[in-house]
Amino acid sequence: MGVPKSKRSRMRARRTRAHLTISLPNLERCPNCGSYKLPHRACQECGYYRGEKFIKSAQEIREERAKKKEEREQKT
Ligand SMILES: [Zn+2]
Repeated sequence: MGVPKSKRSRMRARRTRAHLTISLPNLERCPNCGSYKLPHRACQECGYYRGEKFIKSAQEIREERAKKKEEREQKT
């Protein structure tokens, strides 16, 4: 295994670490509802991509969850 020959100076270590930043994802506005979304992905909020509905919207998922919860509570 390779062993470092000399100590890495504080300056060298910090200079390297200066580039280890987390970059923000590239976001764009949804043309349907206006919320931020990832490019080339269906919008998580309204479920639309290029003017067509592809996935369930966040609102629909919330409503489904509430309905299921209600059903569960009625059983007991
Ligand atoms: Zn949207």
